[in-house]
Amino acid sequence: MGSLSLQSSDAQAADFDPGVIVSQNPATGEKLGEVPVATEEEVRAAVARGRAAQREWGRLPVRERARRVFAFRDEIINRAEEVIDCIVREGGKTRLEALNMEVLVAVDLADYFAKRAEKLLAPHPIPLHLLKTKKSYLHYVPRGVIGIISPWNFPFSIPLGETIMGLLAGNAVVLKPSEMTPLTALKAKELFDACGLPRDLFQVVTGRGATGAALIDSGVDQVIFTGSVATGRKVAAACGERLIPCTVELGGKAPAIVCADADLERTANALVWGAFANSGQVCASVERVYAHEAVHDELVERVVTKVRALRQGDPSSDDTDVGAMTWDRQLATVEATVNGAVAAGARVLVGGKRGPGPGLFFEPTVLADCRQEMDVMHREIFGPVMPIMKVRSEEEAIQLANDSHLGLCAYVFTKDRDKGRRIAERVEAGSVIVNDVLFSFGAPETPWIGVKQSTVGFTHSDDGLRELCQKRHVNVDRFATKRELWWYPYSPKAFNFMLKAMRFLFRAKRRA
Ligand code: NDP
Repeated sequence: MGSLSLQSSDAQAADFDPGVIVSQNPATGEKLGEVPVATEEEVRAAVARGRAAQREWGRLPVRERARRVFAFRDEIINRAEEVIDCIVREGGKTRLEALNMEVLVAVDLADYFAKRAEKLLAPHPIPLHLLKTKKSYLHYVPRGVIGIISPWNFPFSIPLGETIMGLLAGNAVVLKPSEMTPLTALKAKELFDACGLPRDLFQVVTGRGATGAALIDSGVDQVIFTGSVATGRKVAAACGERLIPCTVELGGKAPAIVCADADLERTANALVWGAFANSGQVCASVERVYAHEAVHDELVERVVTKVRALRQGDPSSDDTDVGAMTWDRQLATVEATVNGAVAAGARVLVGGKRGPGPGLFFEPTVLADCRQEMDVMHREIFGPVMPIMKVRSEEEAIQLANDSHLGLCAYVFTKDRDKGRRIAERVEAGSVIVNDVLFSFGAPETPWIGVKQSTVGFTHSDDGLRELCQKRHVNVDRFATKRELWWYPYSPKAFNFMLKAMRFLFRAKRRA
């Protein structure tokens, strides 16, 4: 592996080879490797191979699929450090984050669903409330080949979780990882192949946006996309054109409402981790804080002290708290957002600029005196920045939290859990957590879901596994009769009978 400094956009343009992606270590600029850009034909061929492999896999009993997924889980556990090294080198997050937020999340999800898939995918009876002479049930049939298109911020846990659920549901998977993190996806593929599962059941096609678009166009039966709102719109439109189901998991702008009675030590600890873990490149990151005026100043003081103590630097050291950002483009966006906020009157209390050295570092930054109309309060930052705004009441905080086009996660801090629940139910977000942050992506039994422009569809949860199947309804008669009441021949007698039956049944029900 050679060494390469992190190139400027101009330099990159000069050496740009559209057929190759170069993976670099964002903390050092070291070149890690090259991968090819898959062509449309190659993507189609991968999907065709996946379809052939799926036929046999989809016919296996769920219990057998689960047994083989356990082998994949074990391979991940056994080679965890190899995976962690790869994630750290390619993405810039710290080793503990790579373990806790990527490997552990994937292992736990695999374990949870492999243990329960047989029960969750068993035929589901539908008791018929009126037609007692018949029996209905749903059965779950694999969709076929699932196309997964994933981002760079969690290059292992996001696509692997979706892949494992897709496989348990009886599908084949073709994954198009972000161009920033292809080696992590290929590492996952290496582990998959090593545990004896059919190779074509899970394939990785590396490439840029055009390869993702080609995957949607290649005849896949379902698409699971995670990424930006702008690309999500294109993906949903392309899937709509082809009438294939899609889930799009998009941006977030999570508000944190800090009530006057919050436990300030826990709140400050949670906010600091929630804003700076993975250098703030988390769709669920704390992106704006609304602090009640009664506790605002003390909260800010605690947060600033804790942020000053954070150790930023080499992500491969176990003593580092905050690693590198993954992409120079994102670093530039964060820098511009902070500069814009400062020009509009925000005060930098800590950080506020790029870190020293050649790597992609932005200092953990706390901004005070923020106002709702500033970009930093309503556009996704996706970097290590915590803007804080003072509010006069919890009511005002709820209004401001809901003043967003995004609604993925939100957080409420209060010692009064009943009040926390009441506020949580009024906040427009897919997951609202009282007195904690971020963790729910790591709880596979809860739906990963958003409202507004954050999500269409959902992943994770028991229903999320069933979403990866076609739901088919079967109805079987219980008694042999010669005809049903509503069949031919029609007659005045039949009409009067049905009218009387309707009146009897539904009036009686209303009185009851
Ligand atoms: P992008 O939307 O830029 O890219 C996502 C993926 O889509 C990448 O693999 C990308 O390829 C690919 N892609 C780009 N253009 C197309 C296209 N026309 N058709 C199909 N695929 C395409 O997002 P980022 O990778 O920058 O990820 C950051 C965003 O992801 C943030 O907004 C973040 O909030 C969101 N996110 C949402 C999560 C959620 O669960 N809701 C979780 C994590 C992140 P390439 O990168 O190679 O161009």
